[in-house]
Amino acid sequence: MNTFKTTMLSVATALVFFAPNLASADNHHSKSPSFKSTQLTDNIYMLQGKGGNLGLIKGKQGLLLIDADYKVMSGALKTELAKHGGVEKLNYLINTHWHGDHTQGNFALGHHAQIIAHDNVRARLLTTQEIKLFQMVSKPYPEHALPSLTYSTRMSLHINGEDIKVVHFPNGHTDGDSVVFFKNSNIVHMGDHFFSGFFPFIDIDHGGNVLNMAKNIKVILGMVDDKTKIIPGHGPLSNKVDLQAFHDMLVGTSAEVKAMKDKGMSLEKIQTKGLSKKWTPWAEKSFFPEKVWIGIVHSSL
Ligand SMILES: [Zn+2]
Repeated sequence: MNTFKTTMLSVATALVFFAPNLASADNHHSKSPSFKSTQLTDNIYMLQGKGGNLGLIKGKQGLLLIDADYKVMSGALKTELAKHGGVEKLNYLINTHWHGDHTQGNFALGHHAQIIAHDNVRARLLTTQEIKLFQMVSKPYPEHALPSLTYSTRMSLHINGEDIKVVHFPNGHTDGDSVVFFKNSNIVHMGDHFFSGFFPFIDIDHGGNVLNMAKNIKVILGMVDDKTKIIPGHGPLSNKVDLQAFHDMLVGTSAEVKAMKDKGMSLEKIQTKGLSKKWTPWAEKSFFPEKVWIGIVHSSL
C-alpha cells in the first residue's frame, strides 16, 4: 500500500462523518428529500438535491435532464419532473460521469429516457467500482440503467430550440467526464469539473488528475463569457469569476504542494505543514480536511 492510500485510509473514518455533508454543505438543507429549483431561462432550470447538481431543459420535444442524483432522491426527482410535464416526457438523460451521486437516478429514470454519456461511463457502470476514500462500492448497473448512447470526444443535440454540445474533457475528475454547453442560452453544466468555492474530490483511482482538471478548466474559461451561467457539480450557481477562482486554487495549491515535494518533504510532512492561509476558506467549506486535498494533489503530481 503506498503512502497516498495509507494517508487516505487514515482519514476514512472521519470522512464517513464528513461525506454526507457533501449533500448539504452548499446545496440546500432539507429533512424529507426534495429539490431546490432555480429557473435560469424560460425553459432551463438548475435542480439541487442531495448529490450533484442537475440541469433540466423542457420544451416541445420533451425533457432533457443532466445528472440524476442518488437513488434515495428518485421519488423527489419524479415529483419535481411532474411540475414540467412528468417523467413520461423525459426523453434524454445525460450522465456527466459515473459517480453514484450523479447516476443512481438512472435506475428509476432509465425506463423512460435514453441515457447519454461518455464511452468510459458505460464501461465503468457495467462493472463493480470502488471509491476507497469513501468506502463506497458501486455494483454493476442493470441494462436499463446504463447509458445506451455513448460518445468519445463530443456530440450535439438539437432539441427545444437549443443547441446542446456535450464535450468530453479527459482525465480531470474521472476518465469519463462530460461538460454540457447550452450554446443559445449561454449556460454550462460543468459536472464535477467544478466544485464552486471548496476543494473538489478528484477520483485519482478512476483516471482523475488535478493538473489535467486545471488544464481542462482553462480551456472552458476560454469558451465562456462574463454572462455565462455556470452550474457546478457541487455548490451554488456560479459565473466565470467563480470558475476562474476555482482554477486558480487548483493551480495555486498544486504549486505549493509541488514546491514542498521538490524540497524532499514527504507527503506526511507536507500535510503537517499545510497550505498557506489564503486557502483556508476553501478548506473550511470542503467536505474533507485539507490534508486529504493535499494527498489528492500529491498523487496527481
Ligand atoms: Zn463525481
